[in-house]
Amino acid sequence: MKISKITDLIQPSHTRQLYNRAKEYSDVIDFTLGDPDFDTPSYVKNFAIQAIIRNKTKYSANAGLLELRHEIAANIKDDYKVEYSANDEIIVTVGAMEALYLSLMSILDANDEVIIPAPYWINYEQMTLMCGGVPVIVDSNPENGFALNIDGIRSVISDKTVAIIINSPNNPTGNVYDYDSISELYKLAVENNIVIIWDECYKTIVYDDEFVSVLDFPDAKEHIIYINSCSKKLAMTGYRLGYMAAPNEVISLATILQENIVACASLPSQYAALAAFDLDDRFTMEMKDGFEHRIDTFVTEVNKVKKLKCNKPQGTFYVLVDIRQTGINSEDFAYRLLESEHVAVVPGITYGKCCEGFIRIACTIDEDKIIEGTRRIRRFIDSL
Ligand code: PLP
Repeated sequence: MKISKITDLIQPSHTRQLYNRAKEYSDVIDFTLGDPDFDTPSYVKNFAIQAIIRNKTKYSANAGLLELRHEIAANIKDDYKVEYSANDEIIVTVGAMEALYLSLMSILDANDEVIIPAPYWINYEQMTLMCGGVPVIVDSNPENGFALNIDGIRSVISDKTVAIIINSPNNPTGNVYDYDSISELYKLAVENNIVIIWDECYKTIVYDDEFVSVLDFPDAKEHIIYINSCSKKLAMTGYRLGYMAAPNEVISLATILQENIVACASLPSQYAALAAFDLDDRFTMEMKDGFEHRIDTFVTEVNKVKKLKCNKPQGTFYVLVDIRQTGINSEDFAYRLLESEHVAVVPGITYGKCCEGFIRIACTIDEDKIIEGTRRIRRFIDSL
């Protein structure tokens, strides 16, 4: 059968490969997937169940239930004092992933360039390629904690640059970009007429630092495509419920694309999301505290292991561990660790060249497993 050339460009992710390989071991400690292990709050689950029982299981409008779009608009207004019209500036999507894909499909022509600061979530690069765009990766420096490399970003802007994708809190570094970095980035984008695709799906998982959104800046609405999701906030990854807010010219196009791809997000999931917007932030705070406790444990234990170093992230449930002193590259490290100790981690190279020499772990497993995982990692290092 003939296969599309574009598929040659798309590689299966290391995360999934490691995850699949890890499944071969019954006693594996799996640090690979960014999927919170907490249960979705019962209140939210019941809305989805009730939707099914009451036969609210048909198609919705392509852009999603209007009442849900009103909730999303109200939520953004509460957080940022920015008004989006529920009618034509918001779309409900199948996770943040589909929102990202629709946003790129809506703005890119063939060979348009998209700047992606590294370390970056691999899907940004793959989706850009899937839309016929050219990902332009900008490395950052591990020695300054992978701070946003504004000079590097400035240096790659060309007349083909259409967008930049930014994610804060960041997967995989856990960085929460500060006001000055976002401010400089925003200025650069406005001066050069570049769209900022702003993914804040880990926004509720920030520890001691203040979260700054690009929507905090004046007139940001004109320059950004805002992406968020229920996945990480409420342990709702499997509901596949995300959303995007943007000027009408983007949302109207994204809605037409949506009609041709999935028609709409699943209706019971949309009802669950309605309930999610109803909740106070108790569950989210408890989950965040849980992640922080596990991260503290992991960071303390790993820093006792010779040749390994790591810092507490500012947000997310990910920790980057510096393995450079072992002299082993991140891919070999991950596969050898899995084979010898049945511990699955993601090689840093997955997130860009500048992340080589690191591995990413996700604290989405319980504390006992985290402790056992660090014990096995120590044994692996001792065996080298
Ligand atoms: N954006 C980032 C940075 C992510 O890490 C992920 C998932 O891991 C997503 C978006 C996708 O979220 P969703 O489950 O809402 O599609």
